[in-house]
Amino acid sequence: MAGLTAVVTGGNRGIGLAVAEGMAKAGADVAVWARDGATSADAVERLRGHGVRALAVACDVADEQQVAEAMTRTVDELGPLGCFVANAGISAAAPFVDTPLEDWRRVLRTNLDGAFLTTREAARRFVAQGSGGSIVVVASTVSRFGAANQAAYAASKTGLLGLGRTLAVELARHRVRCNMLLPGWTRTDMTAPALRNERFTAATTARTPVRRWAEPAEFEEVAAFLADPALTFHTGNEVVVDGGYTVF
Ligand code: NDP
Repeated sequence: MAGLTAVVTGGNRGIGLAVAEGMAKAGADVAVWARDGATSADAVERLRGHGVRALAVACDVADEQQVAEAMTRTVDELGPLGCFVANAGISAAAPFVDTPLEDWRRVLRTNLDGAFLTTREAARRFVAQGSGGSIVVVASTVSRFGAANQAAYAASKTGLLGLGRTLAVELARHRVRCNMLLPGWTRTDMTAPALRNERFTAATTARTPVRRWAEPAEFEEVAAFLADPALTFHTGNEVVVDGGYTVF
């Protein structure tokens, strides 16, 4: 992927940072779009350690203008877009009957509006460039099963599959591929509250055939693989990385 520009939203920590590192190790120049400046600066230092150019761009993925400006800055500084990973996401846990509308809207705003706005910006850029390209949408295995206390999150992640499949169909004629990455239980800031619940951690670990949760670093290769321009026939796929949880 040398010479390609990759964007990873939420690439400053967790799964997104691992994905960004995978891209950098494969030779891509990487732009990290996120809100927190300090973690983004740290991430960029780490990415540059792999000998590529890296850029932190302050961006709320659910803000249309910020997304447009982030793309312009990325392409101006790193060159034409090669691959785009819509990874930024949040969750909110509450029993369904107690879920405030505000929480529902907050989760859908980031996870669905954010993916819509950012992948639309990426798709527009790919079409204008006439270069083809790759989009990876980070969904979740929660789109494959019911998860108590996760109504908004599960709805958003299942919606992302519909978005990603549609992009795969609609953008194929522009040689733009779109694949979905579905992580299972992974140790990050997002899951820190769940990890503090020992009964929950023990139950999910016991139900996972490999008998553990994933570490973020385990997502390095898979996203770079999905983004590899050589995979010209590989689109519309849902790649599950969950230690076998959903097939058990
Ligand atoms: P983290 O909480 O560690 O990271 C979330 C990332 O999203 C951060 O980089 C954050 O950056 C960014 N982000 C959140 N809101 C916005 C926003 N409005 N604009 C820009 N960036 C934003 O979570 P994970 O690494 O665990 O999650 C990454 C993705 O993987 C998410 O989409 C999540 O749903 C998905 N996933 C995670 C699983 C897990 O078990 N951890 C399982 C399945 C899917 P900042 O706050 O600086 O903006």
